Amino acid sequence: MYGIVTRNEPELDWDVFDRGFYEVKSASGRQQSPADTGVNAIACHGDTAASAAPELVAVDGCGTPATPGQGAFDCGHVCPTNDGYRSGLLALVDACAEAYSDVRIDDVGFPLARFCYCNRCVERFEGSRHDDWYDWRASVVSEFLAAVRDRVSGRLYLGVHPDPYPGRLRRRTGIDLETAMACVDEIVVPLYDPYYATTYWLDVIAGGFRDAVDAADLAVELYAVNVDIDALLDAVSVVSEHVDDVYFGYDAGIARAAIRRIEAEAASGMTFGEST
Ligand SMILES: [Zn+2]
Repeated sequence: MYGIVTRNEPELDWDVFDRGFYEVKSASGRQQSPADTGVNAIACHGDTAASAAPELVAVDGCGTPATPGQGAFDCGHVCPTNDGYRSGLLALVDACAEAYSDVRIDDVGFPLARFCYCNRCVERFEGSRHDDWYDWRASVVSEFLAAVRDRVSGRLYLGVHPDPYPGRLRRRTGIDLETAMACVDEIVVPLYDPYYATTYWLDVIAGGFRDAVDAADLAVELYAVNVDIDALLDAVSVVSEHVDDVYFGYDAGIARAAIRRIEAEAASGMTFGEST
């Protein structure tokens, strides 16, 4: 299937898309009302606006907050053990699931392997049954995923950081793929590039995830803004070897043109095949 990821609700209705994702809460913290014509997508612990609050932001062992001004962060991150923020997220999941049965969650978990060492996280780890810090982090994220699953009767999608090397996603974010696959229906891997001038890395990453994701569907999301359409079609062709679905980010016009080209080429191939 082909789909669009958009902030413009009317684009969810375009016939060319099999599926539409509506960014109801972005990693900037901007929020809009859930749509009833597409899959509402929630940036969970990525939230630049909320990360400005010292009681919410994730911190590393040196006390450095996970805010966009620090290192490589492109958005701020909230600590996953903050109960008030967690309740707010789950209330948003409820509102989304009420508007449309399928829900997508992104930016789930800890921002990097060295987070979070806030007092609450340290206390909860010490009071937990886990001896291993990373096992405890994974349990925090797994409990969150289970709570979301309980609230979503339709398909549940989980966007993940695009690192398929064994153990690295779990170490970075706390998302354990095996556990996640028991909770969600599809894993979505954003592989964004403004040019797609080379495609070998798309093959490597999508193929790596295909090896790891055997108990859920798998999708890749490509960046469709101001990108050369032939390069984008090459990217679609490469990832399609590995995934069940391909989604396009943020330019519905380019996404529509790409899908029409794919459909036209498939149709001409069928005609050719039938005539021989
Ligand atoms: Zn914390």
